[in-house]
Amino acid sequence: ADALSIEVLVDWLARFAARVARDRVELTELDTAIGDGDHGANLARGTAAVADRSEHGDTVEAEAKSIGMTLVTTVGGASGPLFGTFFLRFGVAAGPVTSLDTRGVALALRAGLDGVVERGRAERGDKTLVDALAPAVDAFEERAAAGDDLDSCASAAREAARRGRDETAPLLARKGRASYLGERSIGHVDPGAQSTTYLFDALVDALRD
Ligand code: ADP
Ligand code: MG
Ligand code: MG
Repeated sequence: ADALSIEVLVDWLARFAARVARDRVELTELDTAIGDGDHGANLARGTAAVADRSEHGDTVEAEAKSIGMTLVTTVGGASGPLFGTFFLRFGVAAGPVTSLDTRGVALALRAGLDGVVERGRAERGDKTLVDALAPAVDAFEERAAAGDDLDSCASAAREAARRGRDETAPLLARKGRASYLGERSIGHVDPGAQSTTYLFDALVDALRD
């Protein structure tokens, strides 16, 4: 696709929901190792609620805000407000338009990331979903600035998210429940970084079809 339309946005979230439903056990296992074991259930509940909405916004802003509000209100746990804030801010940055070009998506992703960082106060290297999200947004922006098309920007973001996810394993957690484990958090991938890779897998697929 050469633009992120409302339909693509809806499809992105539907694919994210399907992926979380399929791999929720993986998220549960990661969160059992360094958290309280509910990340799969939390995100499955939230993304299913998003996919089950009967009404959709008539602008990218309205639709993304509805997605964000649904995540904030249905996901218990730290990840709900964070993923929710990502989409709320994405929507604000998008504005009342019916589609975003590559540059518009880059700006919206950046605003979403900024919202997550403001809300959670995690820095890169704290072993959170920011370690996957921040490099993904950077990679998207870089490729967009170089004039690459939307699909290649999204693919670059997906690869960067995966690398960031992998890099959480050796880190000591400094935010969220995993930080209570101290040194024992070392050696495990962060669950939120893993689910963030699902988000970018879903974006690539939604743009492709
Ligand atoms: P909870 O930890 O409340 O049970 P979840 O298990 O759903 O919530 O989500 C845990 C994930 O949330 C972590 O793996 C981490 O990626 C993310 N997270 C937790 N706290 C923060 C924070 N302050 N900033 C960014 N991400 C965070
Ligand atoms: Mg948890
Ligand atoms: Mg919990």
